[in-house]
Formats: sequence, structure tokens, C-alpha cells
Amino acid sequence: MFFSIQELEVRKIPFNESFEPGKVDFSGSGLRQTSALTSSGIARLLEDTGGEVRVTGSLRVEVEADCDRCLAVARFLVEQDFDLFYSPAPEVDADEIEIHDSETEMSFYQGEGFDLAEVMRDQILLALPMQRICREDCRGICPLCGANRNETACRCEVKTADDRWGALKGFHASREAKGS
Ligand SMILES: [Zn+2]
Ligand SMILES: [Zn+2]
Repeated sequence: MFFSIQELEVRKIPFNESFEPGKVDFSGSGLRQTSALTSSGIARLLEDTGGEVRVTGSLRVEVEADCDRCLAVARFLVEQDFDLFYSPAPEVDADEIEIHDSETEMSFYQGEGFDLAEVMRDQILLALPMQRICREDCRGICPLCGANRNETACRCEVKTADDRWGALKGFHASREAKGS
């Protein structure tokens, strides 16, 4: 669905759209859409702003990515309310752009308007955690043998320059020396 400024000048545009996997372009993001993306809300042109559009609504979608630690599948359910502001792309230097209230998120559009699918893509990417992991306590891949440590308890000893590790070794050594 395309939000045309020309159309927004005469009416608010409500939307209630469902995007099957593949309809929203997630290329380059490492994400795979695994359910229909549903979205509903309304877009309206704000008066006396020179073309500012406010888009409010909610979305729901399931996506998956490769876990950052172990490369297994990491699944995410994104359920998100949004309240977004879109301005015409300024032709002035970037540092002359007026910074709006920090609680509002301002984006820009070029030309005649913008597409709902692009709005959805941006919102989903923003909603995901910085670290995409399959579970909170994912133990990752052993750097020595390559085993997935969630599945296999390998016996590799990771040697690090960490002082705490050295202290622990010293502790064991002294216990043994006492013959306990
Ligand atoms: Zn993982
Ligand atoms: Zn290992």
C-alpha cells in the first residue's frame, strides 16, 4: 500500500494489510519472515507542517535469523505499536535539519509519498534486539573444536589471558599441594 501525499491531502488513509513472506524486502538484514505480517492503523497528513505525515498502528510478525552465537535458528515474535512521523526529505544540509522532540521518531520520504511495506521493514528491524540469539543462555560455538556447546559439552580448555582464570588455576594447585 502506497501513502500518496496527494491522496492524504484530501483524506486520512486507514490500512489493514497482510503481507505474506516475500512481500516485504528483508534482503541484507539477515532476517527470514516466517509468518504473515499483519498491520493495521491510519496515516494522516498533519496540517500546516509542509507535508508531515503521521502513521499510527500496530504490527505482528514472526521472523527468524541465525543465532549470533551458535548459528542455529533464532526465532522472534514482533508485536509492536508504532507512532511515526514522516517528513519530506530536506534539500538543505543535514545539520540544518530541525531536531524534533526526542520522543517522536522522524523519518523522511522522497517525492510523492512512501510505501507501507518500507515502514514495516524499518519498524521490525528496530524492534529486534541488537544481539539476535536463539535463547538467553545460548552457549555458542566452541572456538577450538567448533562444537555447538548447547548440544555437546566438549572438553576443550579455552586458554585466555584473563587473570581470573589464572587465579582459579592457582587455587586448584594450592589445594592439591595440601593433599586434600
Ligand atoms: Zn544460539
Ligand atoms: Zn570444543
